[in-house]
Order: sequence, then C-alpha cells, then structure tokens
Amino acid sequence: MRYISTRGQAPALSFEEVVLTGMASDGGLYVPEHVPELSQDELAAMAGLSYAEIAFRVMKPFVNGEIDDETFRGIVKEAYATFSHDAVVPLNQLDANHFLLELFHGPTLAFKDVALQLLGRILDHFLKKRGERAVIMGATSGDTGSAAIEGCRHCDNLDIFILHPHNRVSEVQRRQMTTVLADNVFNVAIEGNFDDAQAMVKASFADQDFLNGTRLVAVNSINWARIMAQIVYYVASAVALGAPQRKVSFCVPSANFGNVFAGYMAYRMGLPVERFVIATNANDILHRTLAANDFSKKELVATLAPSMDIVVSSNFERLLFEAYDRDGKAVDALLERFQAEPTALAEAPLSRLRKRFASHSVDDSTILEVIREAHHRTQEILDPHTATGYRAAERERGDESVPMITLATAHPAKFAEAVVKAGFPGVPLPPHMDDLLEREERYTVLPAELSAVQRFVAENRR
Ligand SMILES: *Cc1c(COP(=O)(O)O)cnc(C)c1O
Repeated sequence: MRYISTRGQAPALSFEEVVLTGMASDGGLYVPEHVPELSQDELAAMAGLSYAEIAFRVMKPFVNGEIDDETFRGIVKEAYATFSHDAVVPLNQLDANHFLLELFHGPTLAFKDVALQLLGRILDHFLKKRGERAVIMGATSGDTGSAAIEGCRHCDNLDIFILHPHNRVSEVQRRQMTTVLADNVFNVAIEGNFDDAQAMVKASFADQDFLNGTRLVAVNSINWARIMAQIVYYVASAVALGAPQRKVSFCVPSANFGNVFAGYMAYRMGLPVERFVIATNANDILHRTLAANDFSKKELVATLAPSMDIVVSSNFERLLFEAYDRDGKAVDALLERFQAEPTALAEAPLSRLRKRFASHSVDDSTILEVIREAHHRTQEILDPHTATGYRAAERERGDESVPMITLATAHPAKFAEAVVKAGFPGVPLPPHMDDLLEREERYTVLPAELSAVQRFVAENRR
C-alpha cells in the first residue's frame, strides 16, 4: 500500500512516511493508492469483538505491515484503554431507529481523542525505530490542542508546542491543555487571536530552519492516520446494528470534513451505508456546495458550536479527488480557482456526490431549540455540535427503516455555555475530571511574534 497526493504531483509515500509528513509537497493531501476491501465475511466476523480488535482488523491493511501485528495490536489496545467507557464508543438508542454514537468518552471529552490517542503512539513508535526525535506544533481554539496534548504526553520522542489565543478559549478548554504537566508538553498563550497563532504555525512549517534539522510534524486532520483511526467507529457501530446484513445511515456534525471522509472510506471498503448526512452550523460551505453547488468562501461566523467554525473544509479535497475520478490535475485546477473566486463543481462529480451525501445547516437559535427538544423527547442533553447532527438527521432522514446513527462529537459538559443558554443548569464534568478547575496550570504567554515563538520552541525542545 502506497499513498498518493490528491493533486497528483508529489511522490508516493509509505505509511510510515505519510504519518510523518502531513501535507504533500504539491499542496495536496495523501490518500491510499487503492482502497482495501473488507469482505462481507470479514465484516460479519467482527460481531461481538472488542473495539480494539475491530480497530486492529480495519486499520491493518493501511499500516501495510510497516508495524508488526503484535506491536500494532498493543498500540491500539493501549490507545483505547484511555477511554472511560468499556465499549470505547457506545451506541445510545434515542428512539425507534435513531442512535447516538458517543465518541466523547476519551480523555478530553471530544471525538478527536479517538484519532489522537492512536496517532501519538504511532508517531512515537516510528521515531523510536528511526532513532529520531520530532517537534509537534499546532494552533488551537479548543478541541484539537487538548486532544493532541493528551495523545502525546507519554511519548518519549516527541515534544509538543500548542499555541492558543491568550484569554480567548474557555476555561475548561484552556485547563484541559495547561494542567497537563508533562516535561514534553508546552502550552503557549499568544497575545493575539487564533488566526495569529495559526499563521505562526504555518510559517514555521514553511521554513523550518529554526529547528536545525529536527523534524516538525503536523497532527491536524490532514494527517492520514487520523482519518484511518476514524474509519473504525463507522464499521464498529454498523456491525453492532447488524451490518453487513443490514444497511445503516450516518449523520456527522462537520467542519474540516475529516470525520465524514473517514465514513466514506468505510463505505468504499465495503460497509453497506445508505447515506451520509452532513450537518453544519452557520459556517455552511459544505451544505451550500452540495445543495446549491455554491463552492465559495464566506466570512467566518462565531457560533455556539465553535469546533465547527471554519471557512474552508480542508479534507473535502479528499472527497473531491474521488468525485473527480482521482484526476489530480482537475482537483488542482478546481481548488486554485476556489482560492481566487466563487466557483462550482462540474456536473458529473456533483451528481456522484449527491447520490451518497445529503446535508443540512443549523443556525445558533436552532441549536438551542434542538437541545431543548431533544431533552424533552429523549432525556439526553446534547452538546451544541451534536445538536446540529440531531436536527440534520431528522430533516434528511431518508428511508425510515434504515437505522440512523448520529455521531455525538463532544460531551455536553465541555460546551456548557450553549447548554446553559438553552435553559439548563449546566452539566457536571465526568468524575475523572471533576477537580479540573483546581488543578495546577502551566503555560507561557508570548507576544504574537514569529521570532519569539520560534526561539521558545528551539530553546525548550529536548
Ligand atoms: C473537530 C470537531 C468537529 C468537526 O469535525 P471535522 O472532522 O473537522 O469535520 C465537530 N464537533 C466537534 C466537537 C469537534 O471537536
């Protein structure tokens, strides 16, 4: 198994290289050269297996023997032992045929733990084997930073530097990052906004001289291993509901499209999926593209579901590559045009996408209404991201006899602001985190200057 770029110009890479690389040199994203197949028999044989064992079987072909089976099994087991629910990602039945897939039982209470608990361990394994160390740099407005820190805190060969905008992330989110007191974890509060932090990380990737040859690794959702890890829960939940004999549909609260794309990969591998419903908040580029063929940027809106606040969905490129029959030149041309001006997809790829994907956009006042309505009907308090999914699943349900699985991407305690606005007293943090607000914090405040940040990284990496 080799990995190729969606723009068709960068060299093909091995699994190990692709995990360590991030973005392709031609500006594209890496995808597997061939989609491995899960036969109906292989799917049927997964019924009743542990999540870790299903994860091992689903991901094995992507790893391509580059980690030996026993070692990889061990890595997977360790990664998912950090989840507080024995099922790792339990299914919760809401009504006759609508299910919530609870992806928020990991260390930071959002679905990004599923991928980042694994990615940190895989990176550490490859670095150890090569006798190298690496530096991770990332900018965060919330979920990704804490999940990446939790995923790397035990990694001997990695130092992680996460930049967040000073005084502009919620207290819970900041503390989830700054109370991790490991020697290889560095939190930097930037005196600026999220875009300033993001720009400094981008500039550091573009010119890495300040690290004197040490590798810089990206853990954002363009990293293939994150997609790979997310394929697993689509397979596991569908098998739990009777796949491959029975089809299911999925509804996914979406932003950068990494999560839905993983579902699409599960479908391409052979999982019987009737449809994917893409839920967006007011930042609705995915919905506008699918529903109205309006593939254009719109100004960022700050919403009650902040982890879905995006202008461009980076991973949508991976789906476009499939829709355009893996024509890297066509994808490159489309995305160049998109960067410059409002554009549209060609007819054939668009109609291909519409066969499998539906979409719905949910604004802030509707998010609050849905949190109340879902509680009234099911006794569940949904987090604001999951609320967009709940509404989209109902509106774009399709065939009612097909089970609908809505992905619950965060625990409601993590986004208490929306829950309180919806009229509830709030949601307590789960027991293993109930002392979060008393724990010791550690972080460094730096000006929004590239040289200051790079000096800090260079001096503190081990
Ligand atoms: C990151 C995130 C999303 C969006 O996921 P994508 O893979 O970027 O589409 C949705 N909900 C929550 C809670 C998140 O943290």
